[in-house]
Amino acid sequence: MPRRRKDGRKTQIVVVGGGAGGLELVAKLGGHLPREDFDIILVDRNATHIWKPLLHEVAAGSLDANLDEVGYRGHAFRWGYRYFDGALESIDRDAQEVVVAPILDDDGSEVIGRHRIRYDFLVLAVGSVSNDFGTPGVKAHCLSLDTRADADRFRRRLLNQCLRVSRSMTQNSGADAYARVAIVGGGATGVELAAELYSAATALGFYGLEVFDEKRLQVTLIEAGPRILPALPEKLAAAATAELEALGVRVLTGTQVISASADGIETKSGEHIPADIMVWAAGVKGADFLSGIGGLETTRNNQLLVGPTLQTTRDPNIFAIGDCASYTPGEDGTPIPPRAQAAHQMAATAYQNLRALIDNKPLRDFVYQDKGSLVSLARYTTVGSLMGNLVGGRMAIEGRLARLVYTSLYRMHLIAIHGWLKGLSLVLVGHVNQVVRPKLKLH
Ligand SMILES: Cc1cc2nc3c(=O)[nH]c(=O)nc-3n(C[C@H](O)[C@H](O)[C@H](O)COP(=O)(O)OP(=O)(O)OC[C@H]3O[C@@H](n4cnc5c(N)ncnc54)[C@H](O)[C@@H]3O)c2cc1C
Repeated sequence: MPRRRKDGRKTQIVVVGGGAGGLELVAKLGGHLPREDFDIILVDRNATHIWKPLLHEVAAGSLDANLDEVGYRGHAFRWGYRYFDGALESIDRDAQEVVVAPILDDDGSEVIGRHRIRYDFLVLAVGSVSNDFGTPGVKAHCLSLDTRADADRFRRRLLNQCLRVSRSMTQNSGADAYARVAIVGGGATGVELAAELYSAATALGFYGLEVFDEKRLQVTLIEAGPRILPALPEKLAAAATAELEALGVRVLTGTQVISASADGIETKSGEHIPADIMVWAAGVKGADFLSGIGGLETTRNNQLLVGPTLQTTRDPNIFAIGDCASYTPGEDGTPIPPRAQAAHQMAATAYQNLRALIDNKPLRDFVYQDKGSLVSLARYTTVGSLMGNLVGGRMAIEGRLARLVYTSLYRMHLIAIHGWLKGLSLVLVGHVNQVVRPKLKLH
């Protein structure tokens, strides 16, 4: 395709979803393609971006998302793309347009009606949502950690419950007053949240809840599989279990949840686990609106099927990257996992392949390089395994080294979306904030 179209219009590349993958992609496209020939457009339903793997810290209050979030408008100005606020509703492939839902004011009145944005190339990077597998009561009673709003909602509920407990302890004995949290799903999200909650609870006493301490927190982590952290070697999962149990977490494995109600979780074995707050973190799927969107091929989990070049199977002008894409490279049927490092790598391949399409050059296949998995147990420890040439296969790591590698994933994201200078400056600012700011966000 020529850089400018025959009709003289600029070539328009639309990226929907400015998350771990999409925001890195628009920064690359905007930073490298000449503005006189290309119009790069990011569509996101939120005005700001927060890196999703930080959400458990936002939920526990140990991270103030206001300090880490990136406003799309300012970012777009810096990187030479345009930002449109709005949620993707559908795709009209014949007209090569995406349809964006009306934008509503806080009081529900329409700011901008349903509108269409033309594309020559489209990249879908809308991430994933929690998969409740249709379990009764989950939608009504459990929180998820899909968005910043979810994390904020969790934090407010947790704080209110801690306040209730604290009040009951000062007014009467409060012997049976606890903040009870049930987390369903023993993957990285559930494990990280459980540990982060204890870390936050130990600090609450310094911030006005004098009589509250971590002994008043009761966290139950419920996993259907035989052990937590199935993506990590057994030895590390055992170490994480021991660490969580030492903190006070009740770790239940081989326990299937059959329903949730206002006051707790029911298991298949007949146990009722009472809880004030319930979190569902037992797997992800594509959002419902993706199912068959624009006639594209999607999986049962609403993910868009893509081939090796990350182009969707039915339309070479539409790519999908990150959690919303389903790509199974090998013969063994194992799809690329929904992870930040996969979204980061897919953004790099999508960028190269978009350029190749524009320049009429051959596209390259996406090769996933699994760098390993790391799980942070708040300030207590980090466990994980590293993969690759550097360590010659898979190596289990724990403690400070693991923490260093864990934090480097976020640093890489900062550098990818801000460039080296600003990215590294923000890393420094993060360190300064840790010293000068309160350890907890309590509002
Ligand atoms: C608590 C938690 C901890 C995690 N920890 C790790 C970890 O340690 N390591 C790791 O590798 N992965 C981790 N993950 C997974 C990781 O966050 C995701 O795999 C990654 O963010 C996926 O990137 P993405 O670009 O596909 O989607 P996202 O980063 O989720 O971005 C999707 C974007 O699309 C936008 N969007 C959604 N729907 C629409 C719509 N209809 N219209 C317009 N915009 C839309 C959203 O607003 C968002 O900006 C964690 C996830 C969670 C929740």
